[in-house]
Amino acid sequence: MVADRRASACNGPGGGRDARRHGPLVPCRRPETLRPVPCSDRHRDRRDSPGGRLPRLPARRLRLHSRPRADAHRLRRGCRDRSGPGRGRAAGARRSGRADRMSRPLVTAGPAIASLEQRSDSLLILDIDEVVLEFIAPFGALLEEHGARLHPESFKLTGNVRSISTGTALTGHELDQLTVRLYEEQETRQRPVAGVSDTLRQLARRTDILFLTAMTPSYYDVRRALLDREGLAYPMIATERSKGAVVAELRQRWRGTSIFVDDLPPNLASVRKSAPDTHLLHLMANDVFRQHLPALPTGARAATNWQEASGIIDEILGAAV
Ligand SMILES: [Mg+2]
Repeated sequence: MVADRRASACNGPGGGRDARRHGPLVPCRRPETLRPVPCSDRHRDRRDSPGGRLPRLPARRLRLHSRPRADAHRLRRGCRDRSGPGRGRAAGARRSGRADRMSRPLVTAGPAIASLEQRSDSLLILDIDEVVLEFIAPFGALLEEHGARLHPESFKLTGNVRSISTGTALTGHELDQLTVRLYEEQETRQRPVAGVSDTLRQLARRTDILFLTAMTPSYYDVRRALLDREGLAYPMIATERSKGAVVAELRQRWRGTSIFVDDLPPNLASVRKSAPDTHLLHLMANDVFRQHLPALPTGARAATNWQEASGIIDEILGAAV
């Protein structure tokens, strides 16, 4: 299947076998802002290198679906490093018969990097779930509505969410469906993390700010509306791509100090690998998983709330002056 995916990616627009195998294409709501990027290990490496971008494919080839291919999905599985022979995404897809679904291109929603307004030479890049918007708390509330409860005994959701009445662990599919519902209803369920609005208002005087979320890009519009309503009108990119690859591209425009903030250590590691001069800051608003947090990349700083995060970001920006 990997070979097929590579061949399809190289075919470019029109994609031949891939397009026929996927069937009818589903138009997205904002096709002009979506940029599909073919997925394969080889091409992921190329994208991680500045200048290694693949040609754009036309938006009409997009095919979005309701499965949450997002940081939420990564947390669900527990941030495991699944690299190595027979352990990657492709191998898992072959075992579970999901090869067709897994062969679709990765997509991105939001403004093109070249079109982003640049007022500063420095850039603060923020993940959204558990950094800007609460995720675990509203997810826990949703679980309770469905008769389930989170028991954070390790850094993952799978196996740690159990039926209140029977004690049976919810399946990965059930957790995915609940995540989809949370994203669909995020305007009424997700709230800004305490202190984020005021802190970003202050920081915006010193640095450009960009939201970079691994939320399923088809929910871009509803999240944009939520952020705007809360006074968090900073530009947002929603992507299924490696965050490291995106940050490496951003560094081509913002050559000064860059700071990346995320709650999932693998995303910090991805940025360390692809944009090594970017400062890393771990921030996870909810503390239920804190005692099980995996190791952070060397040199990454950590904060437990926005007051601490603000001090660290101020220090980094101040040291660069
Ligand atoms: Mg997050």
